[in-house]
Amino acid sequence: MIKKFLQKVFSKREKAAIVINQADLGTTSANVITAKTHKIDRTLISPSALKTCEGLQKAGFQAYIVGGAVRDLLMQYKPKDFDVATNATPEEVYKIFRRSRIIGKRFRLVHVMWGNETIEVSTFRGHHQNVGDAKTSDSGRIIRDNIFGTIEEDAVRRDFTANALYYDAATELVLDFHNGVADLKAKLLRMIGDPVTRYQEDPVRMLRAVRLSAKLGLKIEAKTEAPIRQLADLLQDVPPSRLFDEMLKLFLSGHAVESINALRAQHLHHGLLPLLDVVLEQPMGERFVMLALKNTDHRILNGKSSNPSFLFATLLWHEVLAAWQTYQQGNPPIPALHMAMNEVIDIQAEKMAIHNRFTSTMKEIWAMQPRFEQRSGKRPYALLTHPRYRAGYDFLLLRCQSGELPEDIGEWWTVFADASSESRTAMLLPDTGPKKRRKRPRKKASDAPATTTTSTPD
Ligand code: ATP
Ligand code: MG
Repeated sequence: MIKKFLQKVFSKREKAAIVINQADLGTTSANVITAKTHKIDRTLISPSALKTCEGLQKAGFQAYIVGGAVRDLLMQYKPKDFDVATNATPEEVYKIFRRSRIIGKRFRLVHVMWGNETIEVSTFRGHHQNVGDAKTSDSGRIIRDNIFGTIEEDAVRRDFTANALYYDAATELVLDFHNGVADLKAKLLRMIGDPVTRYQEDPVRMLRAVRLSAKLGLKIEAKTEAPIRQLADLLQDVPPSRLFDEMLKLFLSGHAVESINALRAQHLHHGLLPLLDVVLEQPMGERFVMLALKNTDHRILNGKSSNPSFLFATLLWHEVLAAWQTYQQGNPPIPALHMAMNEVIDIQAEKMAIHNRFTSTMKEIWAMQPRFEQRSGKRPYALLTHPRYRAGYDFLLLRCQSGELPEDIGEWWTVFADASSESRTAMLLPDTGPKKRRKRPRKKASDAPATTTTSTPD
């Protein structure tokens, strides 16, 4: 027992020594912070991340929990995802873990699966001016980056000082290559290296600066903030699907309202969400979007989930309304609504592609809206059985709260959904719309055909 304990302590010390030496190898050495000083609460660390590090270290590789997870642990937040950095190549990582797969083209990584949790393992990235597999676009944006390097080189390639922290789970040491811990203490978000070059390499870092500062309550350091306004246009060069992923993170951060306000203050919203630009500039549209974002933030900060389709449906609703009005000149209301929905999605997709899996639900939510105004006959019963009724109803309530519709429509549905069968019947409004007449079968084929009037389609 005692022998085992001593072995454990000894091997921990030895590992720590290796780490410190290795951290001192490069041109800049890391600050090494011990558990006594950083006080990371191990219970906040995912067991899957620990097992991943352990597996790599047992196979003789270096392995660290890295990036946002270490930053969050130092701030005493529970990280929502864990990344591991290692000197093992993706193929080597893949061989160690039975349930793993190599993904990505721009950055090749390995996803290691434990139950339903995935740990992202990346190999230390090297300097991209080294000859090899790094590619840049005309504006300096890095398109592909698969050159491997040392931990020091990897740290330089990360975006902010607070994101370049490495935690060795075996020794419990934090390696801090760019004074990220001091910046975190000073509540500063500081870009590593020259901010202009770093934004040119990857314009998404501008969005990350805004999102992380809102989420973590950090101030963007002056030199990091200064070039953003003039470089905002670089976002045009970023693939729409990548923008979508980053915006989704922003909207679901629990700090969407602050983030949107910060994006507007930095002039980053223009062109990024082309339709949202317009919406935010109309008082009614702004009210609706801000209400939706406030609700989402509230849900997320209270540990509830939030449906991205619902959120994107709210962000673009006032554009759909405007296009719907235009299309109604010359088209019946429902086909006009469908034309408007498709147009809005198509225009938005040019800048920021919303995944198909979200757009179909968004359309369902929108298409349901006119049906809430039909409160007579059998139609309200049919609407209650719609698989997305709940989302459609929540959307309706937001429309009422924002002043777009009278409050009593929302209240009517709230009561109707829970009422008894008799009360429901009593609540139905008189049918004022054009009546649907059934075709009476004629006795003789020679009789003139019956005329039919169509009711408003569902
Ligand atoms: P979050 O808490 O939202 O997950 P994060 O900083 O962990 O924030 P991730 O997208 O999970 O963000 O990225 C993990 C880490 O990878 C970052 O902490 C950072 O070190 C690095 N990273 C991510 N995106 C970039 C980028 N565009 N440029 C440089 N480094 C990046
Ligand atoms: Mg993260």
